[in-house]
Formats: sequence, C-alpha cells, structure tokens
Amino acid sequence: MAIKYVDGYRDKGLRKALVEELRKKGIEDEKVLEAMGKVPRHYFFEETFRNQAYKDIAFRIGEGQTISQPYTVAYQTQLLHIHKDDKVLEIGTGSGYQTCILAELGAKVYTIERIEKLHLQAKELLHEIGYKARFFCGDGSKGIANRAPFDKIIVTAGAPTVPDELVKQLNIGGILVIPVGDQKSQKMVTILKTSEADYEKIVLDTFRFVPLVGDKAW
Ligand code: SAM
Repeated sequence: MAIKYVDGYRDKGLRKALVEELRKKGIEDEKVLEAMGKVPRHYFFEETFRNQAYKDIAFRIGEGQTISQPYTVAYQTQLLHIHKDDKVLEIGTGSGYQTCILAELGAKVYTIERIEKLHLQAKELLHEIGYKARFFCGDGSKGIANRAPFDKIIVTAGAPTVPDELVKQLNIGGILVIPVGDQKSQKMVTILKTSEADYEKIVLDTFRFVPLVGDKAW
C-alpha cells in the first residue's frame, strides 16, 4: 500500500498546543517536550482520522491495538532519561510513534512488535519519514537476548509482572520502564539496575495499556 504523506509542518501549531498541554499536565523534561513538538503524530493516522492526531488521547491503529496517548508517551520517555546514543529496547512497536520520539532524542532504538502487520507497517512508515530504528517481529516479553545488553528498556503494553529476562538484559545503571498490573489497569514501574544482582524499584502512577501478550506475559 502506498502511503501518502502531507508536509511535516502541517499541524505544527497543533503540536505546539499539545506540548503546552503536556507541560500543564506535569511533563517537565524540556528535551522530551521538544521531541514531542517535532515528531508529526498525524503521519500515524489514516487521513480520515488525522483531526484526532493532536488530541491527548490514545487511538486505534488496527489489530485491536492503539497508538499510546501523548501524555503516556511523554511520561514513559521522561522516566527513561535518554542520553544521545543510548541503546534502547522498545517492546511494543505498535504505530512506531514512540520509536520516533526515542530516535529524535538520539537513542539507538531496537523495537519489537508481536503482530507482523503492525511491525511491517511501522517499519515502512519510519523508513519513508526518515526515522532510523532496528525492527524485530516476535515476542518481546523475553527481550532480545542476542542484541542485549541495553541501556534502557521501555515496555508499551501492560505486564502482569516484571519479566526477569528484561532486568537481565539491562546494563548496570540501566533503566526499565514497564506498566505492571492486571488487564484493566497498571502502575508504571521503573527499575534501576544497580549491580548484576540488585535493582531499585519505584512504583508510580496508574495507566491503562493493552496487554503484553507472550511467554513472560499474559
Ligand atoms: N509504542 C506504541 C506506539 O507508539 O504506537 C504503542 C503500542 S500499543 C499501546 C502496544 C503494542 O504492544 C501493541 O502493538 C501490541 O501488539 C504490542 N505487544 C503486546 N505484547 C507484545 C509482545 N510480547 N512483544 C511485542 N509486542 C507486543
């Protein structure tokens, strides 16, 4: 399918307004806000629904999945404290929007999606709009052992527990951000790996994600 893109500067005013909304809702990291102001979210919507792109809402992307709410994307990204050239694993590529935010911050992104159709769509879209990432299709609940270790790992679907494999695949000093709970609501959890055997865990706000489906998940 040939995808038609509109000028990336269309909707720039709407992106600016969205950034101000995120700031008011508590997002403080200026680099994250800047990245959110740059990535054209309307590219991730079919033409008919592009008027929804700069509302602070999650939206369906097919296959029963969603592009996350911008606030959630900014919130998780802020917790990752991305530095340029960080090697980041994203579990749940979905639309590819979060992937672009991470790439915009200078991360080397490895992204994995279990649904082949979404994986292929995101890969094609990011190539066309000029964002680089390494794309994988499969069960990310086990991480990607042969590409580990990672400086940061972000899970964009709700897990029942923190999979040990993901902590193992973090560098010491690395951060994992993962929503954990039941299938209706999850608490955002951050794990800071302090040594090969230890980590610090912080439990934060409540969110509602689609389930992480896989071997180490639902
Ligand atoms: N980051 C995405 C974005 O910006 O559009 C949000 C994606 S959506 C909330 C979560 C995605 O996780 C879905 O596309 C779903 O198919 C995927 N997913 C669920 N379980 C997975 C697993 N075990 N491995 C990889 N992807 C998974």
